[in-house]
Amino acid sequence: MSGIELLAPLDGVIVPLEQVPDPVFAGKMVGDGVSIDPLSEVLAAPCPGTVSQLHSAGHAVTLTTPDGVEVMLHIGLDTVMLKGEGFAPKVKEGQSVVAGEPLIAFDADFVALNAKSLLTQVIVTNPERIAGMSPAKGHVTGGKDVLLSLELSAGAEDEQKDTSGDVVVSDAIVIPNTSGLHARPAAVLANMAKKFESRVTLRRGDDQANAKSVVSVMRLNLEQGAKVVLVAEGPDAADAVNALAPQIAAGLGDEGTPPAPAPATTEIRRVAAPVPRPRTDDPNLILGVSASPGLAVGQVFQLRRDEIDVPETGGAPNTERRRLDDAIDAAMVQLEALQAELHAQADPAKAAIFAAHQELLDDPDLIDVAASAIAKGKGAEYAWQQAYTSQALQLEALPNELLAARASDLRDVGRRVLSILTGRPLDQPDLPEGTILIAEDLTPSDTASLDRERVLGFCTLGGGATSHVAILARALDLPAVAGIEPRALEVPPGTTVVVDGARGQLRLNPDEAEVERIRTAKTRAEAKRKADIAAARHPAETSDGHRVEVVANIGGVADAEEALGLGAEGVGLLRSEFLFLESATAPTEDDQTAIYQDVSDALEQAPLVIRTLDVGGDKPLPYLPLPREENPFLGVRGVRLAIDRPEILRTQIRAILRVSGNQRLGMMFPMVSSLDEFRALRGVVEEEREAVGRAEPIQVGIMVEVPSAAVMAEQFAREADFFSVGTNDLTQYTLAMDRGHPKLAPRADAMNPAVLKLIAHTVEGAHAHGRWVGVCGGIASDLQAVPILVGLGVDELSVSVPALPSIKAAVRQYSLAECRSLAERALQSDSAAENRALVPLDY
Ligand code: PEP
Ligand code: MG
Repeated sequence: MSGIELLAPLDGVIVPLEQVPDPVFAGKMVGDGVSIDPLSEVLAAPCPGTVSQLHSAGHAVTLTTPDGVEVMLHIGLDTVMLKGEGFAPKVKEGQSVVAGEPLIAFDADFVALNAKSLLTQVIVTNPERIAGMSPAKGHVTGGKDVLLSLELSAGAEDEQKDTSGDVVVSDAIVIPNTSGLHARPAAVLANMAKKFESRVTLRRGDDQANAKSVVSVMRLNLEQGAKVVLVAEGPDAADAVNALAPQIAAGLGDEGTPPAPAPATTEIRRVAAPVPRPRTDDPNLILGVSASPGLAVGQVFQLRRDEIDVPETGGAPNTERRRLDDAIDAAMVQLEALQAELHAQADPAKAAIFAAHQELLDDPDLIDVAASAIAKGKGAEYAWQQAYTSQALQLEALPNELLAARASDLRDVGRRVLSILTGRPLDQPDLPEGTILIAEDLTPSDTASLDRERVLGFCTLGGGATSHVAILARALDLPAVAGIEPRALEVPPGTTVVVDGARGQLRLNPDEAEVERIRTAKTRAEAKRKADIAAARHPAETSDGHRVEVVANIGGVADAEEALGLGAEGVGLLRSEFLFLESATAPTEDDQTAIYQDVSDALEQAPLVIRTLDVGGDKPLPYLPLPREENPFLGVRGVRLAIDRPEILRTQIRAILRVSGNQRLGMMFPMVSSLDEFRALRGVVEEEREAVGRAEPIQVGIMVEVPSAAVMAEQFAREADFFSVGTNDLTQYTLAMDRGHPKLAPRADAMNPAVLKLIAHTVEGAHAHGRWVGVCGGIASDLQAVPILVGLGVDELSVSVPALPSIKAAVRQYSLAECRSLAERALQSDSAAENRALVPLDY
């Protein structure tokens, strides 16, 4: 039996692995070996081999010996958190080294002060490769003393066994670990995976790793926010995926891991019947969420974007800084030109996105990060690339879908500057006609420059329905699916596919009959859309003359203008938090008044309901630090925050009260759950109304988002002027399902009879006192829900802007009697699915 000797990589004192104060190392989950309490500062190769993995944080390296033994050297405990500070790698992945060759130099004082421990682990991560090991004891001198003598095993298998059986693929999983899948969580995963007989693979795009091998997993270099899928193949494949996928999504026990960012949920995705996403046993069906409705048949084009390779070091810092400033200025000019072009094409929504890009470029934090790297000798390209990617990663990690969606904008504008710095033009692929684009993510620049003649639809792994990409897809009227299963990236180019934007599906290899059916449905849908738009300015009246107000949910003045053009009879929900979330400091009273006034003027006397700030908990404001909460959705959010921070509330209320010239101005409060809250708020409105000297009336209402408000509707109706049911939140609180939860969200369907009963109860209580009830949650934009809501007696539907014409048309399709009968049946049904079956979609 042959053997290998591993030399001590450092001077130091040997500590048995079992005594390392880290359960993952001590429990030998990473593998077997020893630890050294170091007395020197350069980690050297313990044997000849190839550097098979070097962690991007520079604290850990793995060598593979010519006999296939994997030796991991991990400096300190929890040192991944130092993000590279204190470590200077001397080698690169793939490099061959000889015993004693320096691998990583480190600053022992810094690491000792800033990490949990300096104890350095030397571990064989594929212990099946060895039959035994004998560690040295006491003090060792690096490069001289033998630390571990390894006996190699005869014919060890380091690959997974050949298995046959089912193949089960998990949902897309977002890596939540702040420091990515570093050694510790990788070891936890490998150990869990080894309990299953099936072959278990972790995949990101084209890259894959054996989930049973720590090093293989680490080699994937999965950073926080990376999307992966788990594939198991073998007799216990389903058990493996069911057991492991939730553990990966929950961070594999890594300390300080925030909850996994949830995919976005919005009203748009609820336009059609929800699908049990995102896994299916049908190999020809790939699921995601709806980003933009519509149907398209075409051929797959896989869009890949190469990361631009840039040199790390640069010239003199002041030269590099000047180059960066010049590139940013040039990007600003490009963005200005793009906006001018879009305004000329009467497309203010798209122009606004590039205006937002200019603001991102102006962000002093971003520039400071790049500047400080330049001051340390980095080249402008490298410093800039690091700055924008690290900030984008931080944004992506936020459990706030609005801010997370901005990461793609940041990458987009970051690449624009990088392309100027490197002189490499932004990729403009040559797309064939009839293209269905599939990409990990599309930037707003990609989408804006898409050739509308050639691209018929697209699917992205990233993005939600609130991302700018989705907004642009809707503006371009292209069907789009976001958050699609990663296997979409493996569909061979040229494959004929169908994108069903409303259902959030990609169907592969449809047969001729299906293609024909879709072409017909598409032609019909296009004709219907045209007819709906042509009739959009007519009232929404049932066939027997019952009038329902159809108004819009908006975020700002551009939306208001667009909404009016599409037949909105006013605005039922101005989400004022957009104003607060998009600026770095709190907007002043004057700033707010100016914007609310602009929206009101744009609406030309049509009703306008402004919702007061709805942030807190899950939606942090940069200038309003809030304590982390265990259950942000059940914590200080919405009006609870407003009551806690009266200065913000009072400023906003004054700003709203100062809007003039609109007789039908209203304000409403989010997340109201008790009458005491409402009374306190109403009192503030009265005080401020006197203070600003406003004589005109203003309606003051509540959002019904908490079940208690629905249950107590009758009592509220004695004091509140109106109700607006926020079904997105009402559903999550009624069903106790997080609206953004990757698994539960599709089941959190407002068509559930429990939610409908609360709406019915609200209507009853409100009407008893002559108050009106609107619905502004996503269900109002859902074609299947429209007749049921009308039948329940809802007076107003406040819908997403693009849905306005079709929702008005849907109201006209029914008589009030039909709506009432549907509503009655829906209240008595057993499930949301049964209710959806009552109102089938017609394609
Ligand atoms: C809702 O909860 O339904 C709602 C309209 O508010 P938001 O989606 O902004 O929380
Ligand atoms: Mg809400």
